[in-house]
Amino acid sequence: MSRYPLRAALLSSLPLLGLTLATADEMHHHGKHVHGEVTVNLALEGVTLIAEIEATGAQVLGFERAPRDTAERAAVAAAEVWFRSGREMIGVPTAAGCRLTASAFTPPKIGSGHVDFRGRYTFTCADPAALAWAEPWALRRMQGVEKTEVNIIAPGVQRQEILRETAGRIALR
Ligand SMILES: [Zn+2]
Repeated sequence: MSRYPLRAALLSSLPLLGLTLATADEMHHHGKHVHGEVTVNLALEGVTLIAEIEATGAQVLGFERAPRDTAERAAVAAAEVWFRSGREMIGVPTAAGCRLTASAFTPPKIGSGHVDFRGRYTFTCADPAALAWAEPWALRRMQGVEKTEVNIIAPGVQRQEILRETAGRIALR
């Protein structure tokens, strides 16, 4: 068995998922920028669950230009706090005992073109066998989401799902 099973699993699935162990900043060159579309990458290996959320400024803020007033500046600040915290991004069964152990997020530059928000969250789960599903809570706080691409790697699972709704659970088995 590899000494770094998670890394091996992620790297071997790179072409499908665009997942790497790179920082959020390096991730900037990956992914596509399509208004209305969100990408969620989920990778489960051992006790570690990694969730990546990628969305445009149009979905996260409702705009991609420089903020024009106090309310818009507050919206940008709140979005950055949210993405940095990793809270209310992904829901999983309580029984799995998952704890957020790392988050990676580099605030995007706003005011010079299109804007992407990308966060990467690492959870350590006490009972990964209880991880039957994940729920993309992040979508609830976004706007105008028409399509969510979900890429999943879990033991015995490697697939992509397209969600048209902003609520609902994704099976991890
Ligand atoms: Zn855009």
